[in-house]
Amino acid sequence: ALRETQLEALEHQVAGHGGVMRVGDGKVIAKPLIQREQEFYEASAQCAKFKAFMPEYYGTLQQQVGGAADGNATAAGPSYICLENLTAGYEKPCIMDIKIGSRIYDIDATPEKAERMLKKAQESTTGSLGVRICGMVVPGAAGQPHDWFRKLTPETIRDAFAMYFSAAGSMVSAEYRRFVIKQFILEIEDLAAVIRSVETRMYASSLLFVYDASKARYDQLVSEGQCSSKSDSGDSDDSDDAEEDEESSDGLLDVKAIDFAHSHWVPGQGYDELYVSGLENLVEILRSLLVIEEPAG
Ligand code: ADP
Ligand code: MN
Repeated sequence: ALRETQLEALEHQVAGHGGVMRVGDGKVIAKPLIQREQEFYEASAQCAKFKAFMPEYYGTLQQQVGGAADGNATAAGPSYICLENLTAGYEKPCIMDIKIGSRIYDIDATPEKAERMLKKAQESTTGSLGVRICGMVVPGAAGQPHDWFRKLTPETIRDAFAMYFSAAGSMVSAEYRRFVIKQFILEIEDLAAVIRSVETRMYASSLLFVYDASKARYDQLVSEGQCSSKSDSGDSDDSDDAEEDEESSDGLLDVKAIDFAHSHWVPGQGYDELYVSGLENLVEILRSLLVIEEPAG
């Protein structure tokens, strides 16, 4: 077990309840353990195609209590799950937490809680779109309070997405911004195909988007031939995105499903239609960002 002194608050926690820690050199994070989430990660180990859309899961970490100067410490029960830090390795990480699905209460919620959560869903784009931005960090852009995101509507949510991608445009290039958006669309479409092929229910679960707004890293990866967004001719015909985006985006962006505190495998019950519908709406929003010019400023 690791000592508590190796845990520090995660520098980029964009949403959630807090308490997410960075472990050691920062390639791993420790999230306060929720048994249902741990069970979901462990059950998902059997499903390679879905696992590919999750952060790597490394097991649990015991918090040690009573660590005295003599080095004696008593292990308490496991208190964290350890996960791959999805934001590691980026120079200028742009991070966004998006909650997916229009239902945010669990299968065993009390009727009171279900009703409260139904009302809460109706007050944000969770109810209308099954997509809600919980928060984001964008270097160079003014931060917005979580309440601002919560109040977005199906009409204004696109502005918040535009804000998220603005750093790609302003710090690298307009072409890179399009490349990043297109790659996210492809990833979300792949994820939707996976979700349609498994039997899960994921309530109040999120996607974590990360891309690098570092021109230096972009230039470096392009010169190493790992990324060639130059093939994006910039014409406005987006009908065959799949063919023009063969190049790898390794190291420049990532999207993973996270936050499984209310997620279950449900053999025999079919796929999670509400989650997929949220993903479909998300793709539509992302596509709409490709047909408008990047807002100035
Ligand atoms: P909560 O139950 O508190 O909402 P989440 O799993 O949604 O917990 O995590 C909260 C926040 O912590 C996320 O919005 C994100 O900023 C950060 N986070 C969670 N998991 C990871 C991860 N694997 N890598 C990097 N950051 C993460
Ligand atoms: Mn969360």
